[in-house]
Amino acid sequence: MSFENLGLAPALTRALADAGYEQATDVQQQAIPLGLSRLDLKVSSQTGSGKTASFALPALQRILEARGDGDKRREKGVVHGPRVLVLAPTRELAMQVAKAFSAYGKHVQGLRVTTVVGGVPYGAQLKALRGPLDVVIATPGRLIDHLGSGKCVLQNLEMLVLDEADRMLDMGFIDDIRHIAQQTPAQRQTVMFSATFAGHVGRLADELLKPEAQTVQVARHTDTHASIEQRLHWADNRQHKDALLDHLLADREVDQAVVFTSTQQDADWLADRLAEFGHRVASLHGGMPQGRRTRVLQGLRTRQLRVLVATDVAARGIDVPTISHVINYGMPMKAEDYVHRIGRTGRAGRNGLAVTLAERRDVSMVKRIQQFTTQSIPVAQVTGLEPRQPEPRIFMGAPRGAGGEHRGHPGGRHGGHGHPGARQGGRPGGNPAGRSRPEGPGYGRPPGHGDAAHAGRPEGHFERRREGGAQARRAAAPAAGRGRFGDQKPRGAFQARDSRWGR
Ligand code: AMP
Repeated sequence: MSFENLGLAPALTRALADAGYEQATDVQQQAIPLGLSRLDLKVSSQTGSGKTASFALPALQRILEARGDGDKRREKGVVHGPRVLVLAPTRELAMQVAKAFSAYGKHVQGLRVTTVVGGVPYGAQLKALRGPLDVVIATPGRLIDHLGSGKCVLQNLEMLVLDEADRMLDMGFIDDIRHIAQQTPAQRQTVMFSATFAGHVGRLADELLKPEAQTVQVARHTDTHASIEQRLHWADNRQHKDALLDHLLADREVDQAVVFTSTQQDADWLADRLAEFGHRVASLHGGMPQGRRTRVLQGLRTRQLRVLVATDVAARGIDVPTISHVINYGMPMKAEDYVHRIGRTGRAGRNGLAVTLAERRDVSMVKRIQQFTTQSIPVAQVTGLEPRQPEPRIFMGAPRGAGGEHRGHPGGRHGGHGHPGARQGGRPGGNPAGRSRPEGPGYGRPPGHGDAAHAGRPEGHFERRREGGAQARRAAAPAAGRGRFGDQKPRGAFQARDSRWGR
């Protein structure tokens, strides 16, 4: 369905055409007309489904209509506060939503969108809150600060959006959200997005939404993620996981990858290790100052970075369509986070590959993920890097991909049968492309390094570092006399980090 048919103003449909959107997605088809009718909404929709536009467009139309009515709020010297407030769990998601508002609202004259998030100085936020404002996109904690000091005025608010409400409640924001909502007019339109409306999210919806609120349910966590191929590699220990990771990242098919770790320390450690091997890599986690987080994300968008090592919270809301691979190096804390992680790839009509590297101790989390998604993740092996320990067996009905057959990947992006060095379901298989295969029992260096593994990219700073890293690694890693997954970390691994991304 085209956007014109949904009742959107020409200023908005023009911006959507500029963005290259031709058809409205499912959630947009359902939620936009209801949003334009100014109804309260409960929307369950998968990340990557186009949900941002489904609330941003009705919000922008509201602003356009106010402009048409002369918009008395724009006189100088009076603080009116915003018409629209979006609450998001993380800074990254808030920034992403702000970017979407600016893109979809590019033909809305004098549109003023501001973000109010933690980790950045107060000055610019205070200035923006004093001026004429259309949209505020905020994380709850920082907004509460501004409400407490009387600097943020919400009594003229017309629309309140809660993005990823379940996540905000998981992060302990329930009282903050209640407090913020109490500062807004009762007749406001309230739109809530959440993976689930069970339990405390449902109760909050009952509190905040009007009784005639509508429900939109588009994609649930049980959906098949048709654009994302999932794989599971069992690893004997961390060294084995490192070897598998090196193998995966050496693949030319990797356009950009997000590698997830369980902790901030692991993210820093792993980014250092990968930098030492010459990857254009940086870490991203909640312990970093906002300025650096923004620079890192910019580096990812501009492709200066090929690999991002991230924690769950920091990676929420990352929307970079060129992320071709998600690799779970450390398991998520919650099964639901797995769905958010893999949703970083396979975006905007592309295909993606999500690979989970699991150790034996991760069995119960793998099981929980499979129960949550109601799918089993097909098990794969890399020739030459097979686990020594027998693979754990997880029973949950008839697993997909059982019988050793690899299911074709939609679009064939990752080559399915032809994926170099990988095979599925324990089926004996060759190495069709005859490359990326670890050499000998020691395989001390990551496959693909030292060859033109990333050929086709301009020779830049990072490529030179890669060469240096590979040489350093070769020098530091004698091929013989090592354990199978022997200590592969070269000395000095923590020193050779690019200062632009380093700590
Ligand atoms: P979201 O679920 O809002 O994070 O959106 C996921 C991605 O889909 C973003 O990169 C959007 O720019 C893109 N997108 C949203 N709506 C459409 C559409 N109708 N057609 C094509 N791409 C879209």
